[in-house]
Order: sequence, then C-alpha cells, then structure tokens
Amino acid sequence: MDVGRKNRDEFKFRVCNQFFKENMARDINAKCRKCRRAGEKLFLKGDRCNGPKCAMIKRAYVPGVHGKKMRRGGSEYGMQLAVKQKIRRIYGVLEKQFKRHFNEAKSKKGVTGDLLLVRLETRLDNVVYRIGLASSRSLARQLVNHGLITIDDKKVTIPSFEVKIGQTIGVKESKKEKKYFQELKQVIKNKKDFPAWIDVKGQLMKGKIVGLPQRDDVGINVDAQVVVEYYSR
Ligand code: SF4
Repeated sequence: MDVGRKNRDEFKFRVCNQFFKENMARDINAKCRKCRRAGEKLFLKGDRCNGPKCAMIKRAYVPGVHGKKMRRGGSEYGMQLAVKQKIRRIYGVLEKQFKRHFNEAKSKKGVTGDLLLVRLETRLDNVVYRIGLASSRSLARQLVNHGLITIDDKKVTIPSFEVKIGQTIGVKESKKEKKYFQELKQVIKNKKDFPAWIDVKGQLMKGKIVGLPQRDDVGINVDAQVVVEYYSR
C-alpha cells in the first residue's frame, strides 16, 4: 500500500475541511436537482432558467432512479420540511446559516416568518442580485467573495452581510472597466423589475437602500410561518 499517498490525501482533505470551517462553506450541489425536488422552478441558474434547456422543462420529475414513479406522502412534517428547504435553496444558504438567520428573526418583535424573509432579502449577495449585477444569487455571492462589491465605497466580502437603510451597494471602482461589468450596463439599462426598496442607478452600477423590504416585495410564494412550526418541533 502506498502509505505516503494515503497520508497526502488525508492531509489535503483536512486542509480543505479546515479552510471551509474557517472561511465559508458553499453549496456546490447540482442546482437543477433542487428545482426538480421542489417541483417548481427556483431560478437558480440565471439566464438558463428562462431558456429551453431548463431541467424543469426536460425532466420535470423528482431526481433519482425512481424519480418518475415517486409519490410523496403528504405528511405535515414533510410539507414543513419542503417549505423550509425551498426558501433555503432559493437564497442559496446552507442549513447552519439559515438557522442562524431564523434565530435572528425570532429574537425580533414581529411575525418571525416574515422577518426571516426580510433578513434573507437584505443579505448582501441577494441585494447584488436584485440590483442586476448578477444573473443569479450564486453568481452574486461569487462577486462578493471575490471582492468586487462595495458598500459605501468600502470593499465587503461577506455575502451574508445585512445591508441597512442609507447604504449604497456598488462595484469596486478599479473593477468597473472589466468586460463583465461593461456588458452588464446595457442589461441593467433594460431591466425593469427593480424592487421599490432599492434606488438603482444603472449607469453607475450602484443601488441605495431606501427602505426595508416588505413581505410583498419578496416575491416568493410561500407561507414562511411554516418554517417557525418546523423549527419548533
Ligand atoms: Fe431550476 Fe434554473 Fe435549472 Fe431550470 S435551469 S431547473 S429553473 S436551476
């Protein structure tokens, strides 16, 4: 047996694990499988989601060998779990962080389910997506991780950062000339569906937070209060 090689592999595994524990983990599972599991389009892949290659057009059944035949029982727990997973997957958040957002929402006054959605909406990666600087939340997260996004002209590399009223989210000055952002200018110019709580200046590739998102601004058709029931089991 090649002991040296085994040790090397174990070492690499430990280093990777350590890296993700110390920095941030990210969900690298197949995105289309999540839509197929949820039974509806979650729009996780940007432009592809509106095209004919969308997996929900080609294979609109549960993933797996027995997916076509699979019938899910409608237990209460199953329904609550499905709602929780759907919200979590839309925002591309792993379970641990989702629970943390839930606990934050629970500690505030108000309807916990709605507060949870508001907290998820005010994540920096989601705001970058809403402004139109990325075609999907996962791409927005990557832009933030790579240090291309600023808040009030200061670089922020934390995708879960909670934006506040009055802050301006934009692109780092030295990166604006990149081909990606130059091409994006026209896309943002044609974009119409900006949320009311962000004042977007398309040509400057920035957006100012002018209010907090309301439940109706979120645009996700779920009863988030079910998540509260799920976590209080
Ligand atoms: Fe979901 Fe988009 Fe994949 Fe379609 S293309 S299944 S909407 S992630």
